[in-house]
Amino acid sequence: MKKMLLFVNILFFCCLQGQTVNFDEFFEHSTLRIDYFQTGDRDTEIISFDQFYLYPYWSGNPSSLVDDMNLGQHKVEIYDSLSGKLIFSKGYSSIFAEWQTTDEAVRGYYRSFSASILIPLPKNSFKIVFYSRNRMNQFVEVFSTYLNPSRMRIREENLNRVYKSKRFWYNGNPEKHVDIVILPEGYTKKEMKKFRSDVKHFIHVMFSLSPYRKNREKFNIYYVIAPSPESGIDIPEDGKYSQSLFDFSYGSFGISRYVLSFNNKMIRDVASVVPYDQIYVIVNSPKYGGGGIFNLYAVCYNKYAPGKSSNLADYVFLHEFGHTFGGLADEYYSSKVAYNEFYPPGVEPWEPNITALLVPENLKWKHLVEETTPIPTPWEKARYDSAPDPARLRNERYWGKVGAFEGAGYSSKGLYRPYLDCIMFSRNTEGFCPVCREAIQRMIDYYTK
Ligand SMILES: [Zn+2]
Repeated sequence: MKKMLLFVNILFFCCLQGQTVNFDEFFEHSTLRIDYFQTGDRDTEIISFDQFYLYPYWSGNPSSLVDDMNLGQHKVEIYDSLSGKLIFSKGYSSIFAEWQTTDEAVRGYYRSFSASILIPLPKNSFKIVFYSRNRMNQFVEVFSTYLNPSRMRIREENLNRVYKSKRFWYNGNPEKHVDIVILPEGYTKKEMKKFRSDVKHFIHVMFSLSPYRKNREKFNIYYVIAPSPESGIDIPEDGKYSQSLFDFSYGSFGISRYVLSFNNKMIRDVASVVPYDQIYVIVNSPKYGGGGIFNLYAVCYNKYAPGKSSNLADYVFLHEFGHTFGGLADEYYSSKVAYNEFYPPGVEPWEPNITALLVPENLKWKHLVEETTPIPTPWEKARYDSAPDPARLRNERYWGKVGAFEGAGYSSKGLYRPYLDCIMFSRNTEGFCPVCREAIQRMIDYYTK
């Protein structure tokens, strides 16, 4: 009898997994923001709750509640307590996961980072499960618990009445559009005009390029008038410090061009004056730099010649959003990074645009490869390594073809990229490779279809 019950349970469970979730049966059209801390070192991760917030809108797609893209360093799942049904999931990455690969964490030093998860507010009691990937890239449960919205202390006050938001362009219902909120960092009150022209410049750059161009009407773009007390942001290596709103700084993890802020709560507070799916922070600094973490935020500096295309900052703007929105990996391998084995050897990365090519027949972008293109695909790597010049890649035999070219993801050997050049590989504004374009399109569809 016991065996029979187990069998029935398994059957029941399998049926539930395949079902689509009816949004209105399980959720309110409002957002529950769950703030928590990730604490640990390279091998340890502890999750502890901080606070809960409620916002009177939901910006995600009610038809895309369960995320089956398998992207990100982490995943959160929400189960309805009563039925045990999986009703929401989402992949994302974190500053903590990047930090875990730095020397500090490898030495066993502990740190805490603030993070947030946005979910549609469940109508009933629910189970929340947090997962992180292990070194083999498999999701492992880190923490789970039951929560009941009617018994939780949820903060509903409007935290940011002081900040006004503007719609840069608006195409309709946030639940069926990709909503990007752009935040100013290190712009004083007097510099808000400059911020607005920066928004205009970069949005123009972004939507001039495929695949964004043909999806223009699927996006809503907002920006927030949130001035900083002082102009500019911190550049520790130059001994320059500014009192800015979100504490963004160059030199993150010891890399001068890497710009991050660990002040997650302030960023979330200000962003949440509008419904958003993605956050873009423009820093008021002429120094080359930026950053982008999947489903967290993207950052870019603001030096460019107005009206001119193909500025270096234009490339950075698109590249960083490729990480944040598309879940794309860096295809380059020659620049210095702070990580130890960011991609462990012999493990297939989760990002859609690089591969360890462990089983060449199963290449994840094989549907884009022509029959006459060999895998791995030969290219004059030694010549490029001795004098890296992306312009000369055009003379390669397999220029313009999708293949598997060795050298990607900070590794000269053992990782492969799909195309000779791409915005995720070199500082060009020519465009994303076909594999990256497809990944970005899939993400646009996830938010809008
Ligand atoms: Zn690419």
